[in-house]
Amino acid sequence: MAGERILLVEDTDELRQHLATRVLRPAGYEVFTAQDGAEGFTLARQAEPDVIVSGYEMPRINGLSMLEALQSAGLYIPFILMTAEGSEALAVRALRMGVNDYLVRPFSDEELLLALQRTQRRFRTRQIAEDIPEQLLQVNRHLELRLRELDTLVSLGKRVTAQLEHQTVLNQVVEAAVEIAGAESGSLLLVDQATEELYQVASLGEAHETTGTLRLPIANSLAGRVVQTRQPLVIAGDELQKIKTAYLFRALAYVPLLLKNRVIGVLGVSTRQEIQPFEQHKVQVLNVLADFAAIAIENARLYAATEKERDTLNTILRDTEDPIIVVDDESHVLFCNPAAGRAFNIGLTRCYGQPLAEVLDHREVVELFNKEARSGRGRRTEIALADGRFLHAQLTIIRGVGRVVVMQDITHLKDLDRIKSDFVTTVSHDLRTPLTAILGYVELVRRTGSLTRQQRQFLERIVFSVQSITTLISELLELGKIEAGFDEDREPVSLAATVRHVIETVRQAWEAKRHTLQVRLPDDMPPVLGNPLRLRQVVSNLLDNAIKYTPEGGQIRVVLEADGDFQILRVADTGIGVAQKDLPYIFDKFYRSDEAIERFSGTGLGLSIVKGIVERHNGRIWVDSQVGKGTTFTVMLPSDVPPPDAPAE
Ligand code: ADP
Repeated sequence: MAGERILLVEDTDELRQHLATRVLRPAGYEVFTAQDGAEGFTLARQAEPDVIVSGYEMPRINGLSMLEALQSAGLYIPFILMTAEGSEALAVRALRMGVNDYLVRPFSDEELLLALQRTQRRFRTRQIAEDIPEQLLQVNRHLELRLRELDTLVSLGKRVTAQLEHQTVLNQVVEAAVEIAGAESGSLLLVDQATEELYQVASLGEAHETTGTLRLPIANSLAGRVVQTRQPLVIAGDELQKIKTAYLFRALAYVPLLLKNRVIGVLGVSTRQEIQPFEQHKVQVLNVLADFAAIAIENARLYAATEKERDTLNTILRDTEDPIIVVDDESHVLFCNPAAGRAFNIGLTRCYGQPLAEVLDHREVVELFNKEARSGRGRRTEIALADGRFLHAQLTIIRGVGRVVVMQDITHLKDLDRIKSDFVTTVSHDLRTPLTAILGYVELVRRTGSLTRQQRQFLERIVFSVQSITTLISELLELGKIEAGFDEDREPVSLAATVRHVIETVRQAWEAKRHTLQVRLPDDMPPVLGNPLRLRQVVSNLLDNAIKYTPEGGQIRVVLEADGDFQILRVADTGIGVAQKDLPYIFDKFYRSDEAIERFSGTGLGLSIVKGIVERHNGRIWVDSQVGKGTTFTVMLPSDVPPPDAPAE
């Protein structure tokens, strides 16, 4: 309260000056200061302040010793203790000695002022009480004691429940129980469901000897009785009694640790000195402490379990040979395992929290991280490393975390693929010559004399079969060339003109099947940068398929439109459609649906060629289809737009 006189005893100059000049005086208090307990004692006797605010750890005489000395000299001045040490024993001792408030550093200025107000309020109540009869005073003293006990309990509860290290929690609980009960020994036993025993996990005083070894059967022990009845147990007598063969006591109190209505342990205190049982209110306070303890133990257990799980996951992610990189929603690195560090030359210690583009010098991987709007195949890519290895990278978006790219080494698969392609190319070349010879000899047979109708039919079948094999071989060789990256020359190509050209070449085919053809090609589209022959092949293969797989009289639609820096080409038909089970595979080499195999001729290579070309042009292709309704292929290619700062021509 303003105008009151405060003695501030503190050895740290900075804190003392701060509290005196910045906190207490501005709040209206008259403050005088001392640097240690001895000086504080002298000043307190001379000036008789209204309140003493004192540090604990100080040279010569500490805060509590000073308080003791003042009390011995008959001076009972309200006292607030400031300490850096948050131990239960000190808190309980201080409050027992009559310290009115207990602040653990660091505390805020506001907290000190509030403590002062509380102290003064109590002190005034006590002054008023001087005029009250002795009986009432006793009640008041009793209540004050209870209040202090409750204060202690709340502060202990807060500290114990804030603690997450399991053994520390257990030790603190026992330490607090012994202090609160004024006992000599204390122990904490937890229930082992499997063996139906209680085992001692923490202890103080005499019980300490048995921690780690003492196990008591629940069915046949004093502590076990608390588990069974869920009620506290208080016993005392002038005879010394024994807990198992472990330690001796005259008075003992056990309280249950209840968690969600289940007893998880027993908290006990005992003494050899007292023959009186522990007082009822102490047992009640122990009960409350046991409730805190149960929560704290559960918290610590859950925390330890989570930590263990996190460690296991960390170890798995760290030690796996697959490179893994995780970024948050702002593309800052959250995690990068050593395999990723090795693959991309990333310094693991300094990459965390950095923008991905700054630590990862690989355009394709950085781009992959930005492909979150896409789904399915768009979130996968193959990556070539500088050391010659190939990785298959897959992006996954994890809500609340960010984006993860996991990569697998597919170098051996790429090697196999290359060997297979080389083999196919060689065999295809070698097959072409005998096939040409077969066709030549068929022609010769036709010319060498008259043939029967049946002989002519057989020859036609031979020619048809040889032509089918020749188409297959040509397509295989085409695919080989595309995969090997030939035809890399690029020039501006108008997709609209390409589509118009292809439509003319297939006119005969769609007219024969009486298809309606709708075409929408805007005139003002910029070109794409590409290989004109290959792009023609894309449109031609898609249109060929649309015509082939659409029954007579069906509709085919070709639409070209712009979407930002991309051009979208759609080839839609009202044909037989592709079954859901076939959809993931139709771009694979040689894959043909059962219906296609049964009813239509083909090699199963057309879409692989299309996909190969589109991807070589930095584009994407996908399909939407419904059986019996029709199919739409969508091709997305980047427009050939000049960079924004390029000079206008
Ligand atoms: P092919 O047409 O020679 O069988 P493709 O690689 O061009 O080989 O196509 C692979 C498979 O995809 C086809 O066998 C067919 O099952 C399916 N398919 C392709 N285009 C269409 C389409 N427009 N409508 C229905 N199915 C299609």
